[in-house]
Amino acid sequence: MFSGKLDDGSEKGLKGHFREDYSLRTRVGLAPRAGHVDRQAPYKRIATEEAWTFPDLVKAQVAYLESGAAPADDSLKMAGLFAHMPSLQEMLQDLGSLRIGHMDEFGIDRQLLLLTAPGVQVVKPGDGTALARQANDIAAEACRNHPDRFSALAAFDPRDVAGSVKEIERAMGTLGLNGAVLNSHFQGHYIDEQDYRPILEAIEAMDGALYIHPTAPFNAPHYETRGFFGALAGFPHDVWLHTMGLIFSGAFDRFPKLRLVIGHMGECLPLHLYRFDWMQGNADGRSHLRGGTQPKLNHPVSYYFRNNVWITTSGVGWEPAIRFCHEVLGPDRVLYAMDYPYQQSYDELAAYDRMNFTPEVKKMLMEDNARAVFRITG
Ligand code: MN
Repeated sequence: MFSGKLDDGSEKGLKGHFREDYSLRTRVGLAPRAGHVDRQAPYKRIATEEAWTFPDLVKAQVAYLESGAAPADDSLKMAGLFAHMPSLQEMLQDLGSLRIGHMDEFGIDRQLLLLTAPGVQVVKPGDGTALARQANDIAAEACRNHPDRFSALAAFDPRDVAGSVKEIERAMGTLGLNGAVLNSHFQGHYIDEQDYRPILEAIEAMDGALYIHPTAPFNAPHYETRGFFGALAGFPHDVWLHTMGLIFSGAFDRFPKLRLVIGHMGECLPLHLYRFDWMQGNADGRSHLRGGTQPKLNHPVSYYFRNNVWITTSGVGWEPAIRFCHEVLGPDRVLYAMDYPYQQSYDELAAYDRMNFTPEVKKMLMEDNARAVFRITG
């Protein structure tokens, strides 16, 4: 274990709480090189993409993976990988003093809890909704036990459409959860497909936000053999597909009040808005360029990013990227997230503290936007 003062004067550097063999992280490239966290910041820090899981789900994932009955699914395989990392599991499964201790050390006031990828959508078909119900009960209990520290999104298994609608209504209604989370594709399916429309309708009707969180792309050995099925390529690419799929399916024309949240600085999409609009104009009316069946949209692609999409900064505590997204999307559309426990460091909040935004915009980034999008009070 690392101990002692760091040369650069920061509190504890990039070291997080993993005990696996990579626990000592080295500073590479643009990794934050910062100082102490401001313990008297004039805003609450709400981290909006913070992962958790529970033992019954991990067991169900591993049992299905090892049964030989599961289809080839890199997303399920990823669950098997995570299941064999003891300190990761310890952090994911704790919704009490261990997690809150880490939040205090890092400078996080509140976590928005998301059932971690790949969630309930990879278990044996038919078992997902019961596990989602269990997940939502556990998350709601954590929020009741620590009302000033936790909020949570509802899990659901999209393969069970009727069950998902019922569970989203229960979780956001009776349990008071703050939206819903989908861990991107499910065995190569996406929620923009027509069968899943009732789920979008239910989320909009409940005034919820849908957070689409990445998972490993479906059956993608070309990612895996190159060493970047995760955050280096596979994750953002899959959420890119999901987001563009929703836009081009006309989902936001049909459900104009639906709020979509995507992490990791909008999975790189905001950088392309100009080209998206250009190419949408090029493709409209040419069925061979628009999949044959996709409807003509009511608005340019950029409109949906400015009206239906919010982004979080999970894992990208990088001022130039945040500044760009403020400019093209608006400062009200960018929310802070840490991505605990996967990407955790003492220096991240210190780096945010030093970003050169006005006090008003800084407070929007760290607190106000999260409250608005996820209806967080208290
Ligand atoms: Mn994450």
